[in-house]
Amino acid sequence: MALQIYNTLTHNKEAFVPLKEGEVKMYVCGPTVYGFLHVGNFRGPIFFNLVRNWLEKNGYKVTYAYNYTDVDDKIINRAKEEGTTSEEVAEKYIREFEADFRALGLRAHSCNPKVTETMGPIVDMVKSLVERGKAYVADDGEVLYSVKSFDGYGKLSKKNIDDLQAGARVEVDKKKRDPMDFALWKPAKPGEPKWPSPWCDGRPGWHIECSAMIQSILGDSIDIHGGGADLIFPHHENEIAQSEGATGKPFVKYWMHNNMLTFGDKKMSKSLGNIKTARAFLEEYNAEILKFMMLSVHYRSLSDFSDQAVQIAVVGLAKVYSALNLAEKTIAAGAASGVQASAQPAKAFAEALKQASAQVAAALNDDFNTPEMFAALYGVIRTFNTGVRLGMKVTPDVLANAMAFRSWMQEQGALLALFQEAPEQYLRLLDDMLLNQKGLDRAEIDQLVRERSDVRAAKDFKRSDELRDKLLAMGIAVQDTPQGSIWEVAK
Ligand SMILES: [Zn+2]
Repeated sequence: MALQIYNTLTHNKEAFVPLKEGEVKMYVCGPTVYGFLHVGNFRGPIFFNLVRNWLEKNGYKVTYAYNYTDVDDKIINRAKEEGTTSEEVAEKYIREFEADFRALGLRAHSCNPKVTETMGPIVDMVKSLVERGKAYVADDGEVLYSVKSFDGYGKLSKKNIDDLQAGARVEVDKKKRDPMDFALWKPAKPGEPKWPSPWCDGRPGWHIECSAMIQSILGDSIDIHGGGADLIFPHHENEIAQSEGATGKPFVKYWMHNNMLTFGDKKMSKSLGNIKTARAFLEEYNAEILKFMMLSVHYRSLSDFSDQAVQIAVVGLAKVYSALNLAEKTIAAGAASGVQASAQPAKAFAEALKQASAQVAAALNDDFNTPEMFAALYGVIRTFNTGVRLGMKVTPDVLANAMAFRSWMQEQGALLALFQEAPEQYLRLLDDMLLNQKGLDRAEIDQLVRERSDVRAAKDFKRSDELRDKLLAMGIAVQDTPQGSIWEVAK
């Protein structure tokens, strides 16, 4: 099955056919840079990173623009609070966003347009809207979009224009010919940043910024426009009205919206309850946990941010890293004993990988069904784990399986921006988190495992079994290898 994408515009899954064969132009609304970004703000960047990777893997040349809104009331207010300029606030928080983005291990976008660098195209677009009768100028030089002039208004959000008008009438603004109309260009108040225009010195409204950045970088029509579901109305609805109003051409072929993060009313631990920013999460936990939490849920479903979700992610990652660690150890043991890998993995394992690859492709082609993709990954892990044990004699087939497993997992991880850590160290970190959740500590387990090794050496198998059961009851799995007993948190 070829790629199908759920299009918010049509409320349907549709076959993906780009405007130009082999190329994809994609734009995702980026942050307004006036503070550290909330954990939820990264759901989009994490998900659309996968979208881009999957499109590229399928042979498309992707241009992915992600903007910075560096002109906005919130930035101006923050500058006032901090006794600094809007430019400094914007620059600072772009740097902080980029630090978080790098820490998350996401790929750099093709470009990051800024509003301050797009003033010419913004003014030009407002001009053409005025010329085409889609916008009008108020006495003070404010330019407003005339919603009634655009027939398709409401087509994305499926809102009824009469209902919207009734709701909008509450706020009376004499400048507006119709309560639904919105600002394209606003006069600057004293002390505010301003740019020249034919109507007044001022600055653009938020919605026109994205329309103009898209047109100037990607053109009049693009393939994919993404963003959080909270942007559907009014932001994206207004982008359509502006862009189609200015060019008369269809603006976006596929609208994709990721759902929100919910904080529910479930009781959260104090440490998680205090976390609001991605920065704080990355300091307390780490990047792969956040990415795993978000990607293991379908992007159009609500994703719950809770202790339980963190724990599920830690357990899931530990399963992956435990198997990757096993593969690395097996490969190292093979190298140490001079074993040459078979040219191919064993037939059954090769078949399992082939099936799982097909399952991953089917899952991602089905509107990026990441939970299905994760199920395929776990299936491969189970198959791999049944055929390989730590400390076992490494045969050419076992070595080939370990190598094939590792490269297959790395390939899937590259799509998801996951599984990029060094397995042994990262597994230890995850195990420490799991021990912490169980209220256990590493030294205590080490002590019990040592004691068991000692009684085993003394051939007291009854006591040895008792200790194994005790550890198992604590959630610790012990394995006896020729190099001694080792343990992991049971997954
Ligand atoms: Zn936008």
